[in-house]
Amino acid sequence: MNLVILTGAGISAESGLATFRDLGGIWAQVRLEDVATPEAFAADPARVQGFYDARRAQLRRVAPNPAHHALAQLEREWTRGDVLLVTQNVDDLHERAGSRRLLHMHGELKRARCLSCGADSRWEDDIRPADACPACGAAGRLRPHVVWFGEMPLHMAEIEAALAACDVFVSIGTSGQVWPAAGFVRTIPPAARSIEVNPMTTEVSPAFREHRRGPASLEVPRLVAELLA
Ligand code: NAD
Ligand code: ZN
Repeated sequence: MNLVILTGAGISAESGLATFRDLGGIWAQVRLEDVATPEAFAADPARVQGFYDARRAQLRRVAPNPAHHALAQLEREWTRGDVLLVTQNVDDLHERAGSRRLLHMHGELKRARCLSCGADSRWEDDIRPADACPACGAAGRLRPHVVWFGEMPLHMAEIEAALAACDVFVSIGTSGQVWPAAGFVRTIPPAARSIEVNPMTTEVSPAFREHRRGPASLEVPRLVAELLA
């Protein structure tokens, strides 16, 4: 029995990282066209770097919550097939909880990508204007390794293959407004179980067979215990 788990900003909300679309979320404070598009970066790189520098620094002040830990436990203890964790999050809370088979489809705050050679490298601190690419040495060519609006998500071939072969698809803390992740539930085999974990109804709720209406920190450990039983 193969599992595919999709997570969104909601799973990190109880760790203290704001979601995008909820009241008080990030998009209530900044306009997305000012910070999360290739055009914004071309027009004002310092502003865009500053936005992501602040979010990268914020990761030092937060920790994984019981939902992240439960998914890491699921990966460690699941023996009846494959488990793939796909996240839209750019934070590092899944890996800090111990998840290893994990694809960041929207990139990672803690990586920088080089506009000269295309390599992405581990990056802990601010990206400064003169910083050199660890791979090719080019200076002043680094950008956040984050997928912006209008750019292609990462690892799509691997994700699509896993979805086509899954028996259980679980979607946790995602609003179903960002594509292509919002459409994943429609690509799983007809006999597969589909479970949405979210305290709210979402645009894609009708496409799921099962719903767990509560906060991820309660519902995910409960669901993981059921799956492992
Ligand atoms: P979103 O902000 O659009 O939606 C968040 C969803 O989480 C909502 O449906 C909300 O009801 C739900 N939610 C809120 N609190 C929850 C809780 N305690 N438990 C479970 N669910 C809860 O987020 P999204 O769908 O992931 O939007 C996609 C974009 O947001 C992605 O591109 C992602 O990169 C980005 N994002 C990432 C982070 C992060 O890395 N932590 C934070 C904000 C946004
Ligand atoms: Zn380079």
